[in-house]
Amino acid sequence: MNNPCVECGKQRVDGKTWEGKMGASLVTYTLTICPDPICQKIVDKAIADRQAKTAHLVQEKAKAKLAREKQLAAS
Ligand SMILES: [Zn+2]
Repeated sequence: MNNPCVECGKQRVDGKTWEGKMGASLVTYTLTICPDPICQKIVDKAIADRQAKTAHLVQEKAKAKLAREKQLAAS
């Protein structure tokens, strides 16, 4: 399976695997990591940044929705 690292383009290797449930069936999840630990740190940080950004966007959306609902209620 071709799965290059987004940062350096090296082939990613299997990191952590764990089992989880998807509906009724048990599936094995595999987390792939970059073979270069320094690069993996950069990737991890990029993912964390993106997650923080997404969380922020979701918050802003909820706020905007609330404001809109307030406006509707006031009119
Ligand atoms: Zn890499």
